[in-house]
Amino acid sequence: MKIYTTKTELLNQLSMVKIQGKTLGFVPTMGALHNGHISLVEKSNQQSDYTVVSIFVNPTQFNNPDDLERYPRTLEKDINILKETGCQCVFAPKVDEMYPKTDNRQFDFAGLDSVMEGKFRKGHFNGVAQIVSKLFEIVKPDKAYFGQKDFQQLVIIKNLTTQLGLPVEIVPCPIIREANGLAMSSRNELLGNKIRKEAGVIFNTLKNAVNLSNEKSVDEIKDYVKNIFERNHDFDLEYFEIVDDETLQPIDSWAKRQNTYGCIAVYTENIRLIDNISFKR
Ligand code: AMP
Repeated sequence: MKIYTTKTELLNQLSMVKIQGKTLGFVPTMGALHNGHISLVEKSNQQSDYTVVSIFVNPTQFNNPDDLERYPRTLEKDINILKETGCQCVFAPKVDEMYPKTDNRQFDFAGLDSVMEGKFRKGHFNGVAQIVSKLFEIVKPDKAYFGQKDFQQLVIIKNLTTQLGLPVEIVPCPIIREANGLAMSSRNELLGNKIRKEAGVIFNTLKNAVNLSNEKSVDEIKDYVKNIFERNHDFDLEYFEIVDDETLQPIDSWAKRQNTYGCIAVYTENIRLIDNISFKR
C-alpha cells in the first residue's frame, strides 16, 4: 500500500494507474477509522480496480474549535487497518498541503445547507465542499464512496458534483452500527462506556418513530421523539426533522413517505452524534 502526504507524489502515482486503464475508487475520510469507513473501502475494492483513501481532518468544516482539537487522530493505527483491507493508496496530507492559502470559495447549495446540520453548524457544508472539491480535483476518481450516516452531506456532495460538472459517480453506502444500534462514528471513541451503551436509545427511538408513523401524523412523531429526549437527561436533542430526501425540506404529511427520512442530532457528554432512518415502507 502506497502512502503519500503530498499532492505531487499522489498525482505521479495516479497518472501511472490511469495509464494502465484502471478504474479509480475514492473514499474520503477524516481518519480514526472504524467499520463504517471500512465498509466504504470494501465497496470501492469490489467496484474499482484501484482504491485511494484520504485521511485529513479538514479544519474548514469545523465551526467549533474544541471539536476540531478533540477530533481523534490515529494515523498509524488507520494505516495498519487499511493495509488489511487491500486498499492500494492512502493520501494523508498536512493542512498546509491542502490549504497553502485561505480558500475563500463560497458555494451555493440553494437551501440544501440551510436546514439540520447546516443550520446548527454554520459554514460546515461550505468547508466540506472546499475539501471534497479539492480532493476530487486531485484524485479525479471514477467513483467516490460516501456513507448514508451523513445523509445531508451525501445530498450536498451530489449537488456539488453536478454544479462543478465533475464526471464522478457518487456511491451511497449503508450505515454501519454498533451492537446496540448506535451508528458508528469516530466521535464514539470519545464517549464513556456507560453513555456509549445507552446511546442505543438514538436508533431505538428512530425505529419506534417509523413503527408509530403507521398511526401517527408527522407532528405527532416529532413530539414523540422530543418527549423521549426530554425525559432522558443524559442526551440533549438538538434537532429531529422529517424531510424530503431531495429537497431536504421538512414535510408535513406522509404523502411522499417513500422519499422521507427522519434525521436526528443529539448531544451527550459534549459530543455530537447524528443518525437517520428512512420512513419508506
Ligand atoms: P468521516 O471520517 O466521519 O468524515 O467519514 C468518512 C466517510 O465515512 C463519510 O462518507 C461518512 O458518511 C462515512 N461513514 C462514517 N460513519 C459511517 C457509518 N457508521 N456507516 C457508514 N458510513 C460511515
